Amino acid sequence: MDVHSKAVRSKNMRAIRSKNTKPELLVRWLLHTQGFRFRLHARKLPGTPDIVLKKYNAVIFVHGCFWHGHNCHLFSMPKTRTEFWSKKINDNRRRDKLAYKQLISNGWRVLYIWECALQGRKKLNQVRLTDTIEEWLMTEEFSAEISYLGVTTLN
Ligand SMILES: [Zn+2]
Repeated sequence: MDVHSKAVRSKNMRAIRSKNTKPELLVRWLLHTQGFRFRLHARKLPGTPDIVLKKYNAVIFVHGCFWHGHNCHLFSMPKTRTEFWSKKINDNRRRDKLAYKQLISNGWRVLYIWECALQGRKKLNQVRLTDTIEEWLMTEEFSAEISYLGVTTLN
């Protein structure tokens, strides 16, 4: 038996929020395997992108579906302290939008990769995921997101 109740455990899990998460490591590993060169956690850039591919003028954010309030099966608003979580998630989304605008106006291309594309019951298979990322990097599109549904161009 687990010593923690489910509620306590999920609270602990949410408290552990850091860079170098498992989904992010997966994306880095995939890119590395394909021979891409990149920098990590560029603090000088708006929003501190997780991955920066200078050659492609592109930055990548690996977004946790809970933290960034993704409309998918990995997100549900907690039933306790709802107001607290809802504010936190909305703040994150506001920051995301601001960073996005700044990056685009500084000439960067922005790709979001959502956690649900990387793990969970609907994750994309790794070959498809890698191809999708690689194909997007080769385009000149300003921005896109990859979720469990595949790639979507953003405006
Ligand atoms: Zn998601």
